[in-house]
Amino acid sequence: MKYFDYAATTPPYPEVIRSMAEIMEKHFGNPSSLHQYGEEADRLVRHAKEVTAQLLGVKPNEIIWTSGATESNNFALKGAAMRGGRTQGHIITTSIEHPSVYECCRQLEQIGFEISYIDPAPDGIVLLEDIQNALRADTIIVSMMHVNNETGAVQPVQQVSEWLKKVQPRTLMHVDGVQGFGKLPVVLAKWNIDLYSLSAHKIRGPKGTGLLYIKQGTELFPLLAGGGQENGYRSGTENVAGIVGMTKALRLAATEQYTLAERLTAFSQLLKTEIQAIDGLVLTNPAIASPHIIHFCYPGMKSEVILHSLEQQGCIVSTQSACSSRKAEPSRVLVAMGITREHAASGIRISLGDQHTNQDIEHLITALRQTVTQLRPLERR
Ligand code: PMP
Repeated sequence: MKYFDYAATTPPYPEVIRSMAEIMEKHFGNPSSLHQYGEEADRLVRHAKEVTAQLLGVKPNEIIWTSGATESNNFALKGAAMRGGRTQGHIITTSIEHPSVYECCRQLEQIGFEISYIDPAPDGIVLLEDIQNALRADTIIVSMMHVNNETGAVQPVQQVSEWLKKVQPRTLMHVDGVQGFGKLPVVLAKWNIDLYSLSAHKIRGPKGTGLLYIKQGTELFPLLAGGGQENGYRSGTENVAGIVGMTKALRLAATEQYTLAERLTAFSQLLKTEIQAIDGLVLTNPAIASPHIIHFCYPGMKSEVILHSLEQQGCIVSTQSACSSRKAEPSRVLVAMGITREHAASGIRISLGDQHTNQDIEHLITALRQTVTQLRPLERR
């Protein structure tokens, strides 16, 4: 089987698995304990933070370990909205965010916050101008993803942040960086943002580990009350093995990103050309897209049918994002782009990673052609 669902999750690097196994075996102490077992675990967590901070070009005390980007996104939004006991105010986000931002905003709406969900242009990219028009004096936070997890569309996060910090610096800027890190350049210092979420399992690290970058001086309401770990921002015993594993994955992903981007760009260009040449398939990718995500529709066919046919040919792809693929509804992201519900119901996402070879891409192209030939008699035109 060839796996083309790297945007859903990735196989951990062997180095990550080895280091995590070693930590669970030999360094199982609680970082808060005062004895040598605790001190050793604490040293590992602190070292991981220093390495990660250096990789991101930020200070170690600006990083908070979390259980993944879902928690990081919830913490950024709810922590900012509810700081100081607030129950009202305005938030700007987009209608194409991952559910961990979108549904979190829905919850905040239920308790009294007002949310502006900005639609993208038909190419899947949100316009600065539309964010500008939504800004209010009481806007608490603008939350926007770097790369969309379904279409790969690259969002103008730096542009939005530069403008926001000029006109209303007290409004926080949050970026969900999950799908961009390791594929596109990320320079937090230059972006001038306040909050940035990452997840380990999208970059060949472990599941259940992530981080939130919190710019020094930013106040957030802590979602998890307890022992006051992570400078009081996030209580709970640290996931030492996960943190060390994530740091290893971040380091490897950062080191390899430029050669990877070049390879993925060549693969995605080839795939896009081939998809466009197959009668019946419609490429959905925006002009500015991360090279690891390719999205197309096969109007008249259901996504699941295409997915299973490709699986029979030895290729694993995805219908929408993994978090939404069990829902019966067509993708919210595609519908927000103005794609008809019928087209959206036939969407397929291919996502690539560093382990793919030329042969894998050739195999996928052949499988795509065979799938269309096999399914053509079933088309509902
Ligand atoms: N944001 C984006 C853009 C994602 O793709 C994902 C993972 N599907 C998340 C957030 C959530 O990350 P996690 O699985 O670590 O909770």
